[in-house]
Amino acid sequence: MLPPQEQFLRKAWQAAVDAHHIFPEMAACEAALESGYGHSQLATQDNNLFGMKQHRHPLYGTVSLPTREFLSNEWVTVNSNWIVYGDWQSCFADRMATLERLAPHVPHYRAALAAVKGEEYVIQVSESWSTDPGWQCSCGAIFQSQVLGEQHAAQAQHKLSTVLGLGRGEKVLAIFNAITGDWSATETHSP
Ligand SMILES: [Zn+2]
Repeated sequence: MLPPQEQFLRKAWQAAVDAHHIFPEMAACEAALESGYGHSQLATQDNNLFGMKQHRHPLYGTVSLPTREFLSNEWVTVNSNWIVYGDWQSCFADRMATLERLAPHVPHYRAALAAVKGEEYVIQVSESWSTDPGWQCSCGAIFQSQVLGEQHAAQAQHKLSTVLGLGRGEKVLAIFNAITGDWSATETHSP
């Protein structure tokens, strides 16, 4: 992991802690994935680290930009209205509030908020937050590519299924697994 990426993660983690996010480490990794470590237009101009779309009853400002979604088995670009935040802490607080508001209607968000471990939180959130597909076997194994999943399924005669959003969960966890040591000391040190 590059020093600027670690700096982004530490700063995002602190903002998530300040916003009372229930899994601030995972929230920082989600933000890293969805903002390209803070380099997306939404992040740099609007402090929108998650690609948060505007709520039905807006509390924050709005900007319209294209986004890529995995729909009907292919990636397509669609326009969406995005939220403009004053700072990162507001972004993380709104993210948490959005999950809580939608939890009664979205089982994956309900499961995410009830998660005991961060990994469980990320997988659950991702399966309703994102359309990025991942592949899961009936035995419970998950795969980063369809090819690997199909090889496994063929060899073991297990059943492979496509799970929308699971791919996002895997990518967030890959970022989390790349961080070593204490999060509060993730800051870069010169030799
Ligand atoms: Zn299997």
